[in-house]
Amino acid sequence: MSSLTQKLEGLLGEVNGHGAEDLLDKAINKYFAERIAMVSSFGTESAVLLHLVASVNPATPILFIDTGKLFPETLDYLHTLQQLLHLENLTILAPSRADLSREDPEGILWQQNPDKCCEIRKVLPLAKAIAPYDAWISGRKQYQAVTRAGIGVAEEKNGKIKINPIARWTPEDIAAYTEAHNLPEHPLKADGYLSVGCVPCTAKPSIDGDARSGRWAGQEKTECGIHYMI
Ligand code: SF4
Repeated sequence: MSSLTQKLEGLLGEVNGHGAEDLLDKAINKYFAERIAMVSSFGTESAVLLHLVASVNPATPILFIDTGKLFPETLDYLHTLQQLLHLENLTILAPSRADLSREDPEGILWQQNPDKCCEIRKVLPLAKAIAPYDAWISGRKQYQAVTRAGIGVAEEKNGKIKINPIARWTPEDIAAYTEAHNLPEHPLKADGYLSVGCVPCTAKPSIDGDARSGRWAGQEKTECGIHYMI
């Protein structure tokens, strides 16, 4: 059994039945101290996990990928939350210029090959930034999509530990935490966006669809790939 597997088992054994804050505290300050980062899209529900992480340790590295195709409202929201939550260690990642000029010189790869576009704009920058860490924290939740219904609060994948502290939270839990801590909403939420990514690939969710049904709407694609490839 690898040392990472042992740490994962130790973490899960110690926090079994406790809440997201306890899981984060043990992961960030004990089991993966100095070896863990959070990845955030600063999307519609990101404030909750950012607040939890900042409460546990405001120096936790936070990685954000600016794909070059984001809504300006998302960048505004990032600066709002950075100031409000006193995020001390935020890094804004960007795609490699060489990859963009070689693969997407006109900025329309998303139309022709969205998987490749996500690879060069999201997956590769994140894979490079996250390489030094043993573990990373994600805000994925089971209710967001059928493809996420089976995720647990912590898992070992591709040689790293992925912590999903609010995987089992419901939309009501998110709303209650947001209200209890007076957290600002993403500016586009009031317009009906329940999940926000890049401009060309984000629409409002369909009436009978899940929260992520507006992402790559009309395509079979449901994920950018970071949760499969990293
Ligand atoms: S979400 Fe769309 S625009 Fe953004 S990286 Fe993926 S394919 Fe490209």
